[in-house]
Amino acid sequence: MVKSEERLKDIEICMHYGEVPNNYNGAVIPPTFSNTLFVYPTFEELGKAVSNEQRHFVYTRGTNPTVHIAEQKLAELERGEACKCFASGMAAISAALLNSLKSGDHVLCISNVYFSSMDFLTYMEKFHVSHSVIYSTDIADIEQALLPATKVIYLECPTDHNFRLVDLKALASLAKSRGIRTIIDNTWATPLFQKPLTHGIDIVVHSTSKYLGGHSDLMGGAVISSKQIISQLFTDEFILFGGIMPPQEASQLLRSLRTLPIRMATHEANALKVAKFLESHSAVEAVHHPGLPSHPDYELGQRQLTGYSGLLSFSLKVATYKTVKKVINKAKVFQIGVSWGSFESLIMSPNYGNNAEQLKKEHTSTGLIRISVGQGDVDELIQDLKQALA
Ligand SMILES: *Cc1c(COP(=O)(O)O)cnc(C)c1O
Repeated sequence: MVKSEERLKDIEICMHYGEVPNNYNGAVIPPTFSNTLFVYPTFEELGKAVSNEQRHFVYTRGTNPTVHIAEQKLAELERGEACKCFASGMAAISAALLNSLKSGDHVLCISNVYFSSMDFLTYMEKFHVSHSVIYSTDIADIEQALLPATKVIYLECPTDHNFRLVDLKALASLAKSRGIRTIIDNTWATPLFQKPLTHGIDIVVHSTSKYLGGHSDLMGGAVISSKQIISQLFTDEFILFGGIMPPQEASQLLRSLRTLPIRMATHEANALKVAKFLESHSAVEAVHHPGLPSHPDYELGQRQLTGYSGLLSFSLKVATYKTVKKVINKAKVFQIGVSWGSFESLIMSPNYGNNAEQLKKEHTSTGLIRISVGQGDVDELIQDLKQALA
């Protein structure tokens, strides 16, 4: 399914791309440049650097050599022209949205997106930016939901909670014909499994706090796009808001990227086996994993994705808070907690027992349980779910 040349290229990017070993006295990994500023031999040279700060190291709130390596790797993995790394996924997402919007504009979200991204759009109402959600992944329905003021289509693919896929090529082509910018949160697939820019999407955002970090020990975000968009984002939302990825965090991210391909292979294999087990269980109503042939978007996934990550959900036949709570509390290997994309396996539900109305609005079953399948032994993980569901 993966073109092997592309796969080999990605492995090389994760390991070595953007690094210049001869510059670091032969050190096998680049050092962490924790300095805040860079000095120049003459004032004229400083002046020249300041006038083109994106291309020169002047001050770490703008550019830093360690962060720059991470940015080069992420841009190349997404087959994009440029990248800026941020302090968190939300710093990246808010910067990308602010860069794309002005007072009076409207944002269309495709089905469920990360709750803080949605909350950020609600916050934007005070600047007269409105938003709406189309609870469908069908391109004709999406077209129907566009307003004259729509300037951005914002999505995750797969969508949050229900893991439906959107045809990115068709979406990008629709948006381009209307002069609308498309922004996708590609955190779930990672650039290894989905490359939205190659389908015509304008901007990719990431939370590097999930798979890209992969060890539950770093927070960060990234925006990847054309040189033109990143250049404007650099002088505006990046430099001015200052939500940068610190060099120490970038160094951790480089550490994590080196093993991304092997980590993702394990997440993929484990999660597919877990999904197949869940599908066969009598207490389970449905399993939401686009790699299952029974998934409504399986064929689109086969064309658009080159792999599946480890986050999925399933819904219980008895869709009450009481049963959801019981299953989650019985799990032992799956730990109870938010976030995902790391070595540990996690279990939770969007049903907190007090938000049934909200879940209905979001087309989410009250029996939905979300699991992040980690790096553990898959038989042990399946055994744990089996005893929890018993
Ligand atoms: C976690 C997450 C974010 C937010 O990232 P932070 O690094 O926590 O700010 C955004 N999008 C998705 C899909 C996420 O899972």
